[in-house]
Amino acid sequence: MTTVVYPGTFDPFTNGHTDIVRRAASLFPRVIVAVAANVRKTPLFALADRVALAQESLRDVPGVDVIGFDTLLMDFIHAHKARVIIRGLRALSDFEYEFQMAGMNRRLDASVETLFLPASERDGALSSSFVKEIAALGGDVGAFVHPAVTAALAAALR
Ligand code: ADP
Repeated sequence: MTTVVYPGTFDPFTNGHTDIVRRAASLFPRVIVAVAANVRKTPLFALADRVALAQESLRDVPGVDVIGFDTLLMDFIHAHKARVIIRGLRALSDFEYEFQMAGMNRRLDASVETLFLPASERDGALSSSFVKEIAALGGDVGAFVHPAVTAALAAALR
């Protein structure tokens, strides 16, 4: 039974993230969405809120758990007996960073494999940063995120 971990900051969770989780869940029996505390990035939403919004966004996807973490990703992977890291790839611009991260994680534990899923055509330009920017300027983000995220953004940016 292969457990896969999909790590990210998810500040906040978008429909692009949901798409990756749906597709991972169709391939593997258990998907853990691992929400990184990632204080280095100074997220808009607190870790607990990012976890709750991911859970809300994924309510109708079976076989998925959402868990926050503030440790080394590889320690989280070991603690949950996972063997695979899932990452989404949008444009070529994601590639360099993702390739480096996969390489470093391989150096930490070569038995854990990183798998990339290409972003769906529709979500290729969708990012948490743009969603926050649009929401901050009063734009409609309804097409990009779950309604719970739209509401949370409105409250956070009020
Ligand atoms: P991180 O800070 O780890 O990059 P993100 O929350 O920005 O966290 O992204 C988590 C993962 O989801 C990354 O692999 C990223 O490339 C991927 N991702 C982000 N947006 C999309 C999208 N629209 N479609 C597919 N994958 C995406």
